[in-house]
Amino acid sequence: VVPPTPKRLPIPGVDKVILVASGKGGVGKSTTAVNLAVALRGKDQTCKVGLLDADVYGPSLPMMMNLNDSPELNEQEMMLPLMNYGVKCMSMAFLVKQDSAIIWRGLMVMSAIQQLLRKVQWGPLDYLVVDMPPGTGDTQLSVSQNIHVDGAIIVTTPQDIALLDARKGAEMFSKVNTPVLGIVQNMSVFICPKCSHTEDIFGNNGAERLSSELGIPLLADIPINKSIRQCADLGTPIVVEHPNSTTTELYYSLAKSV
Ligand code: ADP
Repeated sequence: VVPPTPKRLPIPGVDKVILVASGKGGVGKSTTAVNLAVALRGKDQTCKVGLLDADVYGPSLPMMMNLNDSPELNEQEMMLPLMNYGVKCMSMAFLVKQDSAIIWRGLMVMSAIQQLLRKVQWGPLDYLVVDMPPGTGDTQLSVSQNIHVDGAIIVTTPQDIALLDARKGAEMFSKVNTPVLGIVQNMSVFICPKCSHTEDIFGNNGAERLSSELGIPLLADIPINKSIRQCADLGTPIVVEHPNSTTTELYYSLAKSV
């Protein structure tokens, strides 16, 4: 049962809010959110973009965006986002010690995310990309019900179990009247760099089938690529590190579709 929709308030100074969601963890949601955020700045880097790590259970943004400082407060006691690669970033991990395990109750998670949305000086921004926690629980509902969201992107691998959960994600957003912009199929194929043989490690075309079944567009199809993983671990998104690669072009084309 979906609770009644409270009033959805815009975030001051933020033009569009895009959620990056997934049914399951480990499918590449954060990697997609980070590269999408950098790509949304545009090749001329004129667009103003923010990235909120709402995945409080497993925050990846500090590592993927190479940021570790503590945010400062302005005169209005609003937190100032940290900035790297031209993107304004905020994560719960900036506010608590990273190596300490926090035991979150559902309500604490919801209130933490509301603070990260409302007590941060986000504006002026053309886009705020929100890296959501995986799954379809209270937190996901609370974000899509409390702020004005322009659309959600669902990341999945082509694997059956991931697709099953991605379908639930799409259904949840439609129940709360949040438009689903489309699906990103990640880790679709592995192309051997030595012999160019292709291997469908997680199955093939699963997201295409899901997209036609649900009538939601497939926005991008991103292969398994060692550089994507290496760049994530080094704290430089592939869009920044390899601006002219074919993979980077996939993220630019994804950015055009949101
Ligand atoms: P999630 O946010 O869904 O939990 P992550 O973005 O953290 O997933 O990705 C999980 C792991 O897979 C990370 O180690 C990341 O670097 C790696 N990864 C994500 N997408 C790809 C890809 N297309 N090719 C290779 N590695 C990837």
